[in-house]
Amino acid sequence: MHKVSHSFIAQAETLELRWQNYLGSGDFDQFVEFTLSLNGLTERLNQQNLPGLASACQELENRALAFFTDHTLRPVTNEQTAAISQQLDTILQLLYRHETPAVITKRLSDQTNDERDPWVRQRNVLIVSRPGHPWSAALVEQLSFYGFRSHTLDWEGAANLDEAPLAIVLVPDQEDSTYPQQALTALQRLKERYVASYVYCLSVPASLEAIVSLQRAGANVCIPAEVKLSDILSRILDLVESREQETHRVLIVEDSKTAIAHIQRALDLHGIDSRAISTPLSLLQACAEYRPHAILMDMYMPFCTGVEVTRALRQIPEYQSLPVIYLSGEADIGQQVEALRLGGDQFLTKPANPIILSAVVKTKIDRYRDMLRSGRHDSLTGLLNHSASKEQLEQMLRRTLPVGQLAVAMIDIDRFKSINDNYGHPVGDQVIRSLAWLLRGRLRNSDLIGRYGGEEFIVTLGGVDANQAANLLNRIREDFSQLPHAHSRGALRASFSCGIAAVPHYLTGSALIEAADEALLQAKRDGRNRIVTAGRQRPGA
Ligand code: GH3
Ligand code: MG
Ligand code: MG
Ligand code: MG
Repeated sequence: MHKVSHSFIAQAETLELRWQNYLGSGDFDQFVEFTLSLNGLTERLNQQNLPGLASACQELENRALAFFTDHTLRPVTNEQTAAISQQLDTILQLLYRHETPAVITKRLSDQTNDERDPWVRQRNVLIVSRPGHPWSAALVEQLSFYGFRSHTLDWEGAANLDEAPLAIVLVPDQEDSTYPQQALTALQRLKERYVASYVYCLSVPASLEAIVSLQRAGANVCIPAEVKLSDILSRILDLVESREQETHRVLIVEDSKTAIAHIQRALDLHGIDSRAISTPLSLLQACAEYRPHAILMDMYMPFCTGVEVTRALRQIPEYQSLPVIYLSGEADIGQQVEALRLGGDQFLTKPANPIILSAVVKTKIDRYRDMLRSGRHDSLTGLLNHSASKEQLEQMLRRTLPVGQLAVAMIDIDRFKSINDNYGHPVGDQVIRSLAWLLRGRLRNSDLIGRYGGEEFIVTLGGVDANQAANLLNRIREDFSQLPHAHSRGALRASFSCGIAAVPHYLTGSALIEAADEALLQAKRDGRNRIVTAGRQRPGA
């Protein structure tokens, strides 16, 4: 298998080296190499859910790309070189502070981890508004439940956070009207200081002019006036939610060794894993072993054409929607249209521009994954659905046994029917979403969180015993019971009950679920808003 380097510190070092190479030689080819690795790094940061840093990289990339297309800009002037150097320095400094990707994507499960993990210090949110704005207070309160530390600032104030906040949220004094100059100036100032922070502007009117001026000042997301506070929260939470990012895998079917080397180099630079076969005869075997997310298919090979191979592949249900991208020197439009009609997804002309090649592959794979994903995830909460949760539990169990630890918790919201009856179904939905967010914000990336039924959730924690799981979930239970849920007449509180079962007391997925369910029922019988662990003596039981 073709190896890719995944540490993005290594990627940053390469980037730095390439820039030094360019500075040393003044050779435009080196400049191209630098831009390529910048592009690769941007992709990687996006994957790691660091959109602030990614957009800073993207900006620099756009600046560099201008020199590709506009020949009158070359050679790059000293002034431009200095500006790029400076922008690059800022990005690199921020990057090196992030240490390893594992640290960055890790979410935390408890206080002790909290102290150790630098990522938690990154979970600052800066809220800018006039003093005492009610939204600002509401945001601070809500965010604190989901594990964020909020800081407030007024328009004239100077921010004095040591670390760049993960997000900056601007709350305008007036809803649904163009941001005043004072706000734009404040935004520019903040963006200069915190290049990598992601900026949300609330209550933005639906005017292109208003949006463009905010974007110019550094806004990343403009949220329209009619969006509710709870949806704003979900946008911020999505930012930290880092879905398990599986590597992109591409199978190359190509008879030319040179073409393979060229393609693999381009993919490698963008963190895309690839494997190549030189004859379509071994395609099915390679697909079964390597499980690619996309195929790059040469049009002309000794045994048959790419179109024939793709048509054959499409006969197999498993590969019906697997993206196939044709590669060919073909310039004949008629042929290309025919090839696409017969089951391909896209056509690229060889030798493909590495940036375009990687971008096309990524886009196809992301869309394919979204399609696969939509069948596995619940639309209200974004969590795994019932059957996907069970599958994932089995997988985690296989990785755990025979010696590891694993705990399963079943969680059910208390007297949920009466919430629906008293406040209406939409408020009930919001309570379900809040619990989903709370779990997402408080559990680790490696933990399974699923929506098992209407108001019932399943959580699986790897590497912990029943006691540790109970302690952790108990803190979440306490916090959930304090969390205010807005409704038209004020705010309500809800609670949940939870049953826990763990390995090695129970050794199969169904035994764990059944025992945790049984314990959950006991928690309900014992009076709700509590946790019961299966297989443990309870006083008086
Ligand atoms: P208990 O404390 O015993 O769990 O009582 P409960 O009222 O929560 O239990 P029950 O299972 O009787 O009620 C669950 C209700 O959840 C019934 C169903 O109408 C409602 N429900 C299921 N899915 C959804 C949903 O997606 N949204 C909303 N708003 N309600 C849902
Ligand atoms: Mg060929
Ligand atoms: Mg219930
Ligand atoms: Mg229920």
